[in-house]
Amino acid sequence: MTSATLTIDIRAVVQNWHALDSLSDGETGAVVKADGYGLGAGIVGRALATAGARSFFVATAGEGQSLRHTLGQGPDIYVFSGHMEGDLEAIRDGHLIPLLNSVDQMLRHVEALPGHPFGIQLDTGMNRLGMEPSEWFAVRDIAFAQRPALIMSHLACADEPDHPMNAHQLEAFRSMTDGLDEVPRSLAATGGTLLGQAYHFDMTRPGVGLYGGLPFVDARPVVTLDLPIIQVREVTAGEPVGYGNSWIAPRDSHIATVSGGYADGLIRAMGAGATLFAGDTPCPVVGRVSMDLITADVTDLGQMPDSLQLMGRHQSVDTIADAAGTIGYEILTSLGARYDRVYDT
Ligand SMILES: *Cc1c(COP(=O)(O)O)cnc(C)c1O
Repeated sequence: MTSATLTIDIRAVVQNWHALDSLSDGETGAVVKADGYGLGAGIVGRALATAGARSFFVATAGEGQSLRHTLGQGPDIYVFSGHMEGDLEAIRDGHLIPLLNSVDQMLRHVEALPGHPFGIQLDTGMNRLGMEPSEWFAVRDIAFAQRPALIMSHLACADEPDHPMNAHQLEAFRSMTDGLDEVPRSLAATGGTLLGQAYHFDMTRPGVGLYGGLPFVDARPVVTLDLPIIQVREVTAGEPVGYGNSWIAPRDSHIATVSGGYADGLIRAMGAGATLFAGDTPCPVVGRVSMDLITADVTDLGQMPDSLQLMGRHQSVDTIADAAGTIGYEILTSLGARYDRVYDT
C-alpha cells in the first residue's frame, strides 16, 4: 500500500480543550473552521461536544450547516463571515448564529430572519472583519435592544505577548462594549487565552491550540504522519537525486523514496530543511519535494523500516512549518485528501 497514514489523536484534542478551558473562568468554545483545521470538523466537533463544549465557530454558513448536521441540535454554532447574500437557508435551517460584520449584514439579517439569533463582530484594529467604532456606535443601541448572543473581536498579534497591539485592541474592545453587561463578550483565540485573564471576558474561542499548534506551547501533539517507503536505491558519490539535480550525493548513499509530496500539503518550500525519522534516527530530506514523492538519505540506518515519519514524536507541525517558512496553521489545513486517516478516539 502506498498511501501515507495520517493519525489524528482525538483524545489529545479533547485534552488540549480541557487544558485551555482551565486557563479561564468563562466558557471555552471551539473553532472548527476549515474542516477542523484540516483534521475533520465532524469528528473533532462530536468529541468536543461530548467533552462539554457548547459553542462552536466556523468561517462560513456552509461549514456551519454541515457541522449542524453532525452535531444535531443543542450546541451553538457561530459563523465568522456573518450573514452573506445567499446564506438565509443555511442560517435558518442550520440554526446558525451569524456574527454580523456590518450594518448591511445587520439589515439583511433582521429583515430576512426577524427574531433569529445573531452575534456581532467588531473590528478593534485588525482591519479585516467586523464593524468599526463609528459604524458600531451608530447601531449599538438598536443592536443591543435585540440582545445579541455574543459580541466578539479578534486580536491581530496575540502570538506575541509583548506586542503593544494587544493592549491597544483590548482597550478598543472595552471602550466599544463596556456597559453592555448582559451580552456575553469574546476577544481571545488561542493566543489571547494565553495572554491572561484581562483578555478572557465571557468566552474564549481557541482553534489552533486544540490541534496541537503554537502558540499553545503546552499542547499535546495531535498529528502523526508516516510516509511509506516505496523504494530504496544506492547512489554513488557524485550522482544527483531528484528534479533539477539539486542534490548531489557527497558520499556513496542509500536514498529512500517515500509516498507523499506537495499534493499532500507537504509543501515544496519545506525542501531540504526537513527531516524524516526512522524511529529515533533522523534521515535528512534530500533533493526537491515532488508532487507525490520525497527522497531522504537513509545511509546511516541499520535496518530499513516500512515507513519514515514526518510528523510525530520528534517533529511537530510547527517544526515542519518552520522548515517551509510558514506557520503550523497552513501545514495543517493543507494536508489534503490522499492520506489514510486513522482517528485515535
Ligand atoms: C481562526 C479564528 C479563531 C481561532 O484562532 P486560533 O489562533 O486558531 O486559536 C478565533 N477567532 C477568529 C475570528 C478566527 O478567525
